[in-house]
Amino acid sequence: MKPTEIVIIGLGVGGFIAAKTAKKTNRNARITIIDEKKYDMFSACGLPFAMEGIISDFDELIHSMPTEKMDMVKLPYHKAISIDNENKIVTALDIDSNTTKPVPYDSVIIATGSKPFVPPIPGAHELLNKGVFVINDLENAKQIVDYSKSISSAVVVGAGAIGLEVGVALAQNNIEVTVIEMLPHAFPKAIDPDIAKILERSLKESGIKLMMGAAVEKITGDEKVTSITVNSKTIPVDMVIMASGVHANWDLAKDAGCELGNWGIRTNAKMETSIPGIYAIGDCVETVSLINHKPWMSQLSTTAYRQGITAGTNAAGGYDTFSGSLTTFVSVIGKMEVAATGFNKFFANTAGYKVVIGKASGLTKPEWYPGAKEITIKVLADASTGRIIGGQGIGEEGVAARVNLISLAIKGGMNLHDLYEAELAYCPAVSEAYDPVSKACEFAIRKMK
Ligand SMILES: Cc1cc2nc3c(=O)[nH]c(=O)nc-3n(C[C@H](O)[C@H](O)[C@H](O)COP(=O)(O)OP(=O)(O)OC[C@H]3O[C@@H](n4cnc5c(N)ncnc54)[C@H](O)[C@@H]3O)c2cc1C
Repeated sequence: MKPTEIVIIGLGVGGFIAAKTAKKTNRNARITIIDEKKYDMFSACGLPFAMEGIISDFDELIHSMPTEKMDMVKLPYHKAISIDNENKIVTALDIDSNTTKPVPYDSVIIATGSKPFVPPIPGAHELLNKGVFVINDLENAKQIVDYSKSISSAVVVGAGAIGLEVGVALAQNNIEVTVIEMLPHAFPKAIDPDIAKILERSLKESGIKLMMGAAVEKITGDEKVTSITVNSKTIPVDMVIMASGVHANWDLAKDAGCELGNWGIRTNAKMETSIPGIYAIGDCVETVSLINHKPWMSQLSTTAYRQGITAGTNAAGGYDTFSGSLTTFVSVIGKMEVAATGFNKFFANTAGYKVVIGKASGLTKPEWYPGAKEITIKVLADASTGRIIGGQGIGEEGVAARVNLISLAIKGGMNLHDLYEAELAYCPAVSEAYDPVSKACEFAIRKMK
């Protein structure tokens, strides 16, 4: 293949794999990676576990990419400030020297991720870093840990995966934690209220207070946070973590003239934006739901990785497509594993599906085998066809594997009978002879007319 100049903006999960794949696709590709961080890649997903102390050192989350060995150029501590598609030039600002340099390209991959969304709550922006924190990088995670050493109480705003994982980490370090969520239950975008109840019970048992369906009205303090007002009630607090969602980091793409969707940069299945030769991947893009093929967000490492493979292949002259996402995720909240894939009941109904649901609670091993844990698995299917469109699970072990199975069933277009008849492995040390996934499908089939 003839040499091609590829510029990758952002060395996160997506940018990393896009670079590797581009080089694999075309050994002659000349790749330049621009990232505004001083350090290389880091695993954001590990931040809550480093805060908790399970990972002993934050630096273990940093991974160096041997770009020289891979025959690539890396520009750390450089911010891409514009993409001039007419002249095919990315302008990078050297943050240290405050000078700019032009980086020519044939293809560019925008992998700029997302940034935390801080809602316009009075006090939230004014007290940022004065007791109000967001969490998305090593710096702010370390800042939270340092700050938390001299305080006794914290409020986490947002009961999604990041908020709850961070809440547990703080509680493990003897901070009194309250989690506030505007919607009626934990993980509102992924699971249903009945599964959330199991999680909420476990959180309360571990001493975390929950205020669900509660709106934060203001955060008060002078030099430091002192209180938060929720549903007209003012609660004294030392620290507030805003885990209220993220927003696609799309400014570069927008300024370059790429088409935007409601929540992220629009791409086709090749991960190419509306401008030929400019690709976009990861948290900054809007994808499509694999269920109804409508616009959908999937701001996960797994999605960024897959999309990175596709964009890297195409930018280097190969051919690959990314068909869409189910937002299959797992999160470990204290002792509970929570996982989900596809639509929950709310999204299914909003998308116009009447659903039939099968839910099975059981044990992860036979009751006579030591260490069996409770598990609940839920399968959602289109009531008119039996096609599986969602799955959820919660328990102390074995949840992710089962939800992954449901995710595969959705991707394969399976109906309840197909998954019910799947031949699953059994040994008392790891499973029951009749798996909760099969049981959940059986219950749902019985409800089909
Ligand atoms: C605390 C936390 C826990 C998480 N846990 C999980 C989990 O368990 N599972 C999961 O699947 N996902 C998890 N995620 C989400 C996951 O980290 C993201 O979905 C993933 O990192 C997105 O990858 P990306 O490549 O799109 O962006 P990122 O990995 O965020 O990388 C974007 C990069 O672009 C750089 N950049 C941005 N703008 C510019 C610019 N103009 N010039 C140069 N560089 C720029 C940034 O410095 C950054 O390095 C978690 C996120 C957080 C914050």
